[in-house]
Amino acid sequence: MSPERDYNIIVIGAGVVGPCIATALARQGRKVLIVERDWSEPNRIVGELMQPSGLKALRELGMIEAINDIDAFYTAGYLVKNYNEDVLIPYSYKQDLKLVEEPVPGCVKDGNDKLKDDKDTEAGISVKDWESDERIRGVAFHHGRFVMNLRKIATQEPNITKLQGNVTSLLKNDLDACIGVEVEDDSKNRKNYTAELVICTDGIYSKFRKELFLSKKPQVGSYFVGLELQNAIVPKLHYGHVIMGDHAPILMYQISQTKTRVLCAYRSEKLPPKNDVLKYLNEVVLPSFPAETQPSLIEALSKDDCYRAMPNQYLTAKTNTIPGLAFIGDALNMRHPLTGGGMTVGINDAALLARVLYDVRDLLDDATVSEKLAEFHYERKKLSSVINVLSIALFSLFDGDSKALLILRRGCFAYFKRGGKCVTDPVDLLSGLLPSPMILFHHFFSVAFYGLWLNYIDRGLIGFPLAIWENLCALYTAIIVFTPYLWDELVV
Ligand SMILES: Cc1cc2nc3c(=O)[nH]c(=O)nc-3n(C[C@H](O)[C@H](O)[C@H](O)COP(=O)(O)OP(=O)(O)OC[C@H]3O[C@@H](n4cnc5c(N)ncnc54)[C@H](O)[C@@H]3O)c2cc1C
Repeated sequence: MSPERDYNIIVIGAGVVGPCIATALARQGRKVLIVERDWSEPNRIVGELMQPSGLKALRELGMIEAINDIDAFYTAGYLVKNYNEDVLIPYSYKQDLKLVEEPVPGCVKDGNDKLKDDKDTEAGISVKDWESDERIRGVAFHHGRFVMNLRKIATQEPNITKLQGNVTSLLKNDLDACIGVEVEDDSKNRKNYTAELVICTDGIYSKFRKELFLSKKPQVGSYFVGLELQNAIVPKLHYGHVIMGDHAPILMYQISQTKTRVLCAYRSEKLPPKNDVLKYLNEVVLPSFPAETQPSLIEALSKDDCYRAMPNQYLTAKTNTIPGLAFIGDALNMRHPLTGGGMTVGINDAALLARVLYDVRDLLDDATVSEKLAEFHYERKKLSSVINVLSIALFSLFDGDSKALLILRRGCFAYFKRGGKCVTDPVDLLSGLLPSPMILFHHFFSVAFYGLWLNYIDRGLIGFPLAIWENLCALYTAIIVFTPYLWDELVV
């Protein structure tokens, strides 16, 4: 390590992604400082459902035990409800996926890539049960408990130093390269720490992303209003539920043996006033809820402060260009949380960044590091573009109330009902196991044309001229809710 720097790496933030990248780089022999402003257990409504590809990345990082002993609840896929119709979308069969795990160099040892039994196997994770399932699984959990496990794994690494404090600014040298951070501790004392590379994983409200994005701001299209149900009866155990109707989509999934998360999309670009939200929850969400789950929702709604709201933001990633600085996780890239892909992208980014930096001997060699960061930016696109674009496209379709969007939504639902590849490919795309933008493109436009075809049939011979007009509008809508996002993700 360079004698003029305190650490090889400083990681800002110990949420989901920070501990993953810190652990990987420490296991590769780097001296790492991880700074978090609050090491106590987070209590948030985010990051509670992990797609199978996120679990795969955790195994490749040798951190899979982060899902142990937190009362995690496995997920088997999705149940999509469109008014009174249902379609079941299970995750794919393991034998069809033929997954190959590629350990991140230096990270996997002593079986830390193998799932373990929970201490309480009666209620928790049982390896036998997971392995005997012919289908791949995802997992849901309490976000805070999962983050605490990730932090525990990270801070057990001898090469990692943990620090409680708020990073207030980045230190720069005369050439405008980042050389460290200024940290304010709980007593408001400030101290500087230097490193060869600073990695920002400071999340959704990142203070430092403006360094990279300059004036570009994340788009807020809607809010998620989150409630927690106790002992709820859900229509299909172990499945995430997506409920569509004359309202913005509602998401529901069990996060432990007793708790079920409900996330209701709310169309607003600003934090909605409490009275409006409560009215919406009682008058729109409650009646659209499955009958068997309604009593738990009524109970949740009767409590004071029954909900919390979070903005749903979208931000396309940008190549890291500032010497000495790198961004990953939500600080770099965000998508709609409807498809539960944020942690999957972030953890895969941590694995990929550790892979590309593995053979860099000198992190102060700016030319080599920026080449590696460009490689990282290019390589991550396959997975991130699919998850990000799918999240936005599905939200547009499921949220739509215009005729054009309703045609597409119906096409999507009917497409899933056809089964076979019309279900397996979309669910593999969503779960991050089929990182192919071309296959996403193919299915998105197959859905669109299927919707147009169904609309022609509905309108019949007499309504044919009207159907032509409606279908042109629907096709135009399909193009604008999909292609600009795919372009941004793949080309920018
Ligand atoms: C409503 C909602 C629901 C979601 N649901 C899911 C889901 O089900 N599945 C999924 O995969 N993803 C989901 N996501 C996305 C997911 O939560 C994020 O992608 C993920 O948490 C990103 O991890 P991160 O480490 O980048 O950021 P975070 O997990 O937010 O961590 C950032 C950390 O940085 C710390 N920090 C920030 N600033 C500083 C500073 N200046 N100094 C020191 N520390 C600092 C914070 O305290 C925090 O601990 C959801 C998002 C939203 C909005």
